[in-house]
Amino acid sequence: MNLFNTYLSDFCSLFFPALCCGCKTTLLRQEELLCTKCIYNLPYTNHNLQENNQLEKIFWGRVNILGASAFLYFKQGGTVQRIMHQLKYNNRPDLGFLLGELYGKHLIKHTEFKDYDAIIPVPLYRTKEKKRGYNQSEKIALGLGQSLDIPVNNSLLVRVKSTDSQVHKNRISRYENLKHSFIVKNNQPNLKKVILIDDTITTGSTLEACIEALNHNGIHEITVLGIAYAT
Ligand SMILES: [Zn+2]
Repeated sequence: MNLFNTYLSDFCSLFFPALCCGCKTTLLRQEELLCTKCIYNLPYTNHNLQENNQLEKIFWGRVNILGASAFLYFKQGGTVQRIMHQLKYNNRPDLGFLLGELYGKHLIKHTEFKDYDAIIPVPLYRTKEKKRGYNQSEKIALGLGQSLDIPVNNSLLVRVKSTDSQVHKNRISRYENLKHSFIVKNNQPNLKKVILIDDTITTGSTLEACIEALNHNGIHEITVLGIAYAT
């Protein structure tokens, strides 16, 4: 940024200060979307450092996966809830990219991501994506892909059913509700080992339905990742 642009952006920020998506404090010039304090204090799960971690256990007896990890714990009223709200409902696709990028950098410090053919974001139903303007999981996937150097494939898995609210359903009826919601389109036989990524993981029912669709189409090596995990 040249000096004039720096002055201009400082001048603009007097009237429209950029605020942290986590805590709403004014961001410093070198900070982007999240302040340093929020990034430092986020509730990291460190799932990737634990064998048979609590997230992997929710898939036991349901589907076979290579492993599962989420970046952060989601708590009602917490910073992560505010961040995820901004990502989904406040037109912040850039926040998704940043979270994916941060997570990727965190993961490769300790875990090797070898031989993955693609990162597949959990798709939204087309009318929902149109209304929101973007699929937040796809933005996360793009940031993650940049850090891990793995291509993103957003055309393989498609959501063919709009599912009504899952909030008041138990695990079985959530699963029934989601069954056959996803299909694999334009199957690409060169895809064998993939990362499936979602924004927030709660019961794992959405991911389970996605995994079944991928399994039906010959993709059996799947690692599940999420940004937030609501226990
Ligand atoms: Zn903050």
